[in-house]
Amino acid sequence: MTQETIFAKIIRREAPADIVYQDDLVTAFRDIRPQAPVHILIVPNRAIPTANDVLPEDEPALGRLFTVAAKLAREAGIAESGYRLLVNCNRDGGQEVYHLHMHLVGGRRLGPMLVRPTE
Ligand code: 5GP
Repeated sequence: MTQETIFAKIIRREAPADIVYQDDLVTAFRDIRPQAPVHILIVPNRAIPTANDVLPEDEPALGRLFTVAAKLAREAGIAESGYRLLVNCNRDGGQEVYHLHMHLVGGRRLGPMLVRPTE
């Protein structure tokens, strides 16, 4: 069995987080180490470990990630200026927390999508 992550506890409100949206399928909360003025994580309530583990029955929750992202972007006032939505998968994708999540990042010019690591 995959070990539970901190995100599952946040979803159940057993761990502290700045939750900005929650419904039956997804939960959204502010990233603890924001990379931009707006940095929100939108996560399916079901603990899907990675993008590799997505099942057909997850499609409603995964679609909801986008509708909630667009709503939160509008509310944050960045819908027109723009933002980035991203999902990291496994080591090379830079995934840190193994509960699938979408990053909503914006509020500044984000630059090129990929940068070459310095190390
Ligand atoms: P990943 O690299 O897995 O795509 O992103 C994980 C994100 O979760 C990181 O941006 C990190 O700052 C954030 N994060 C990790 N632990 C916590 C936590 O306990 N609370 C919140 N709000 N964000 C977290």
